[in-house]
Amino acid sequence: MRTVVIGGSFAGLTAALELKRKGKEQHEVTVIDKSPLFLFIPSLIWVPFGRREIKDISFRKDTLLRKKGVEFMNTEALNVDPENKIVKTSMGDVSYDHLVIATGPKVKYDVAPGVKEYAHYIGTPNGAMKTRAALEEFKENPGPIVIGATQNAGCMGAAYEFLFNIEKWLREQHIRKKVDLYWITPETYLGHFGIDGMPGGETMLKSFMKMFHIHYRTEVGVKEVFPDKVELTSGEVLPSKFTMLMPPFIGVDFVKNSPALRATETGYIPVTNDYRHLTYQDVWAAGIAVDVKLPFKPGKVPFSGPKTGYPSDETGKIVAENIYRLSKGKTKLKEKAWGRIPGICVMDAGKKEVIIISDTLFKPRKFAIMIPNVLYDFNKVLFEKYFLWKTKHGLSYLP
Ligand SMILES: Cc1cc2nc3c(=O)[nH]c(=O)nc-3n(C[C@H](O)[C@H](O)[C@H](O)COP(=O)(O)OP(=O)(O)OC[C@H]3O[C@@H](n4cnc5c(N)ncnc54)[C@H](O)[C@@H]3O)c2cc1C
Repeated sequence: MRTVVIGGSFAGLTAALELKRKGKEQHEVTVIDKSPLFLFIPSLIWVPFGRREIKDISFRKDTLLRKKGVEFMNTEALNVDPENKIVKTSMGDVSYDHLVIATGPKVKYDVAPGVKEYAHYIGTPNGAMKTRAALEEFKENPGPIVIGATQNAGCMGAAYEFLFNIEKWLREQHIRKKVDLYWITPETYLGHFGIDGMPGGETMLKSFMKMFHIHYRTEVGVKEVFPDKVELTSGEVLPSKFTMLMPPFIGVDFVKNSPALRATETGYIPVTNDYRHLTYQDVWAAGIAVDVKLPFKPGKVPFSGPKTGYPSDETGKIVAENIYRLSKGKTKLKEKAWGRIPGICVMDAGKKEVIIISDTLFKPRKFAIMIPNVLYDFNKVLFEKYFLWKTKHGLSYLP
C-alpha cells in the first residue's frame, strides 16, 4: 500500500513518520516537499532580533525520512487527479493508494495595496531576515512603528509575539522613547485570537499595552500601506517608519489547481472529523490545509481562527492512525474535530511569556487558563528545544 504525503512540516512529517512506524514494511510512504529542510516556524519571531539564526531552527528532513524508511521527493506537487489517484509533480506523475494533503498555507499579500511592498512579514526565513536588515537601518533613524494583523488574518498570536519582542528590542537599543508603537488588529477585542479569547486574556493584554505604552486599535483593517504610513479601514492614518503585518492565509496553489478536491473559497480541504475528504475516501488532509469552521461570530472587520502547531501535529497523527486502521481491515476510524483538540500554546512576550492551556481549542470549554510568566520565556525556549529534538530524531509519536 502506498501513501503519498504532500508537505513535510508539522502535519505531513508527523503523518508520514507515524504511518511508517505503525505500518512498517506493509506501508510504503512517500513525502513530497518543495524544501528538504524542516523549519521550526514558531521561532522565526526571534530571527529579526538576532536571537536565532535560521540554521538554529532547521534541519534536513530528507535525511531523517530516508533513515526512517520513508521516500522523499524534493519537488513541487502541481495538482491531483483523485479519480485516477495520480499526483502531478515537477518531477513527473506519482500514483497513490492514499493521499495526505499537508501543504500548509499561502500568504495572501494582496489583501490590501502596499502590504507586499511596504509591510514586513516574519513568517518565512527570507521575510524574517529582511526584517532584521530593516530593523538595523531603522535604529539609526527611528520613528513610529505599526505592528498588527490585517483583515481576514487568523495567525494573530505570532503578530502579538512580534509586537512584544520589538518593544523589548527598542528598549535594549535605547530608542524606545523615540518610537510611537501602534498595534492594529481586526479582532473584536484584544486577545480574541480567533478562538473567542481565554479567561482573563483581554484584561492581561490591556495591562501589557498600558505597561509598555503601546497604542492599540481593535476592529480595524488595513486600507493601504505606504512607505511612511498605514491607512486603516476606519479612515485613520497612522504614521509608520517600520510596518510588520500578518496577512491572511489561504490554501496553496496545488489545492487551487486541483478542482476535483472541491476546496473552500479560501482553498482549504473539506473533511469529516476523521480528516478524510468529503468525497474521496482515499484523500486526507492534516494541519493548516484542513477547512475549519469559524467558532465565533465575525465582527465589523472579518478575521479568522488560528491553525497552530499542536492541532497540526495531532491531525497528522489521526490521519496516520486512520490509514493504518483501514489497512488492517478496520472500519472504525479515530475522530476528533479540530476545535475539540486541546489548546496548548506558549505566547512569547519579549523574554516574558504567557502559557495558554485549555481542554479544547474552541468553546465550550471545561477548562481554560492563561498563565503569565514575567521572569523569562523559558517555556517557549523549552518547547522549541523539545520539538526540534523529538522531530530531528523522528519521535513523532511523542506529544
Ligand atoms: C510566524 C509564525 C509563528 C508561529 N508561531 C506558532 C507558535 O508559537 N505556536 C504554534 O503552535 N504555532 C505557531 N505558528 C503556526 C505553525 O507554524 C503552524 O501551525 C504549522 O506550521 C502548520 O503546519 P503544517 O504542516 O500544516 O503547514 P506548514 O508548516 O506550512 O508546512 C507545509 C509544508 O508543505 C510544503 N508544500 C506546500 N505546498 C507544496 C507543494 N505544492 N508541493 C510540495 N510541497 C509543498 C511546504 O514546503 C511546507 O514544508 C506560527 C506560524 C507563523 C507563521
